[in-house]
Parts: sequence; C-alpha cells; structure tokens
Amino acid sequence: MKCRYCNAELKEHSKFCPKCGRAVEEDKPGEKALSLESLY
Ligand SMILES: [Zn+2]
Repeated sequence: MKCRYCNAELKEHSKFCPKCGRAVEEDKPGEKALSLESLY
C-alpha cells in the first residue's frame, strides 16, 4: 500500500501517512460501483 499523495510506502491499515501526514483512505472501487448502479 502506498500513499496516494507522496507515494511513500505505508503499513497496512495505516490511517495516516508518516511522511506527508495526510489521511490515507483505502480504495474500495467495488463498493462505489455498486452504490452507483443501485441509483438506476
Ligand atoms: Zn504521504
């Protein structure tokens, strides 16, 4: 897993990047796709 902002290597389940200090969110593309589909 890498920080999306500075590309630093992160430990699994890290909530904050130790390098740039920004909050790191896990990508869940499947859930987003499903919620969009349910709108139609
Ligand atoms: Zn970072």
